[in-house]
Amino acid sequence: MESKYIDILHRHDLKVTSVRIQVLKALMDSPSAMSHQALSTALADENLDKVTLYRTLSAFTEKGILHKIATEDRNWLYAISPDVDAGGHAHFVCDVCEKVFCFPVPHMVNPVALPKPGFQVKTQEILLHGHCPTCHE
Ligand SMILES: [Zn+2]
Ligand SMILES: [Zn+2]
Repeated sequence: MESKYIDILHRHDLKVTSVRIQVLKALMDSPSAMSHQALSTALADENLDKVTLYRTLSAFTEKGILHKIATEDRNWLYAISPDVDAGGHAHFVCDVCEKVFCFPVPHMVNPVALPKPGFQVKTQEILLHGHCPTCHE
């Protein structure tokens, strides 16, 4: 049952620990990106200290399992990274509850014609603002 998490850890050369599995599970089960604080609350039963959670999140980000999204109040949100082959990636920010959702955009074309030579786009991110289904009236 937990084998998919173990698999992800193995593929990224990370040792399997119960904390790592719990953090992965929480993020994969969450429909929106999560802050350190939100994860800490979600995993309150795990007796997990702040530093361990912080280290786990940095290790995951460094390995590319997670990506960080900066919020307007200079906080970080963490979300599972899309498949490298999945194409582009969009973030939807709900202006009411401030949750951030990740959406894959399989056939994203580069809308910006870069005017200067030497600039090469490697990844592209679209930021969308609006209301999520929960906040929609
Ligand atoms: Zn919302
Ligand atoms: Zn994302």
